[in-house]
Amino acid sequence: MDFDLLVRNASLVDGTGEPARLADIAVRDGVIVAVGELSDDNGARTEVDASGLTIAPGFIDVHTHSDVTLLGRAAGVNKICQGVTTEMTGNCGFSAFPIAPEHRALHDDHIAYLGSGLPDVKWSDFDGYAKAVEAAHPIQNVACLVGHGTLRIAVAGNDARPLDDEQSRQICVLLDSALEEGVYGFTTGLTYVPSMFGSLSEITMLAKVAARHDAVYATHARGTAGKERDAIEEAIEIGRGSGARVEFSHLALNDPRSWGSASASLSLFDAARREGTDVQFDVYPYDASASSLAQYLPAWLTAGGPAAAQGLLRDRATRQRALSEISQGWYGGIPWMWDRVLVTQSVPGDRESPGKTIEQLSAVWGCDPCETLLRLFEAYGNTLQVAMFYRTEEDMVEFLRHPASIVGSDGVAMAWDALSERPHPRFYGTFPRVLGRYVRDKGVLSLEDAVRKMSGEPADRFHIARRGYIKPDYAADLVLFGADAIADTATFADPNRLPIGIGQVYVNGELVVDQGTWNGTSAGQLLRRGGG
Ligand SMILES: [Zn+2]
Repeated sequence: MDFDLLVRNASLVDGTGEPARLADIAVRDGVIVAVGELSDDNGARTEVDASGLTIAPGFIDVHTHSDVTLLGRAAGVNKICQGVTTEMTGNCGFSAFPIAPEHRALHDDHIAYLGSGLPDVKWSDFDGYAKAVEAAHPIQNVACLVGHGTLRIAVAGNDARPLDDEQSRQICVLLDSALEEGVYGFTTGLTYVPSMFGSLSEITMLAKVAARHDAVYATHARGTAGKERDAIEEAIEIGRGSGARVEFSHLALNDPRSWGSASASLSLFDAARREGTDVQFDVYPYDASASSLAQYLPAWLTAGGPAAAQGLLRDRATRQRALSEISQGWYGGIPWMWDRVLVTQSVPGDRESPGKTIEQLSAVWGCDPCETLLRLFEAYGNTLQVAMFYRTEEDMVEFLRHPASIVGSDGVAMAWDALSERPHPRFYGTFPRVLGRYVRDKGVLSLEDAVRKMSGEPADRFHIARRGYIKPDYAADLVLFGADAIADTATFADPNRLPIGIGQVYVNGELVVDQGTWNGTSAGQLLRRGGG
């Protein structure tokens, strides 16, 4: 036998954006060894007749929050069944390393925004975390970014002040060694404590460290009502000042007063790119966001945690002050639309609020919607998650079809036993939704362009070696699907639903999804920048 795997008669979409063509693909020892018309003399241990199916490089999800869940066994069935063969963690300023033991409690609180605290931490740096991920045998490959929030806690706790000289030196050393050990870049989360305390000059200083390693700076921008373009300009300025490649995370227009102005945002990216600043963005294909309710309440109320907030809110004047501030809108003044704020997750045992909008809950409780938010926070703290239907499909589509966009889910590789949660459907549907709804049904993108935004382009962008393309010498991360059948099925009402139309998924040459279902095999590798 010449090969381990031979896929015959596939419609090959190879990740370059070139037109699909009929081809055979041969794999040996986890690596693609031949692509083209292979003669009948060639044999393989396994042969697959892919007539009528498309074969693409496994998708690379550049924007995930799977940092903690990947430490458990068999996380990410929801991702592998979408064809995601590489999961990139460490986004929005949150990563599970480096951990400073003296700030362990703050690190725990910080990572809890992602859904749960850290498990028993036996590491401090990326090498240690990487070993823990490898020991958990991930289903798909894992590539890591390091979070500015985590770095900042390690040197300064949750201190809001500018870093002093010694702290600045230390934070650069920590970032430098994470990059040395193989992370692909660093990220900020400029609406979250403590990343939000980072000034333009602090972030530029760190981006210069990333630039020295030719690594990426990815940013979850500041949340400022009606000033989305200021946030883009800040990201561009950091790219210009540091020389780092900039990835603007989950680009969207959340303020109804900005709806319809996608082209104005895009022209900022175009102008920066024309003058030589390397800045690009990612997008997820939905018109709703999702995150912790706490993010939309006054920081002075939530900063001390739910117990402290309950104490504060017992005082009538303080409660009035909170209600009055909330009533002015979120992110500094985006007007509330109570029928567009949907409770998605709280805690096990709460059967009342998940699935209801704030408008509906307020009617049941007979109270003002701002009061409803306070009562939810008092009862469930940071764990309460809301979906916000504050975007338009038209804006999202304009971002998605722009040449500088790639696709990232902002989802999480779900723990195998967490299927009772009700996440944003992006966790289950992002990649099939692009290929079904936006390529086939609406004709927003060609199949070849869409696949490029989900494989080759992310690999180029983040310098993930030997992934993202179907070419000889590249790792055999492959997804086979029916271009006429692929679709997402997860909805806000019923999110834990796998997509349809995906046949097989291979990770490093091993079959992990068969007939759309995970077969129990874990074949992922921990990837390091410069390795491979
Ligand atoms: Zn984010």
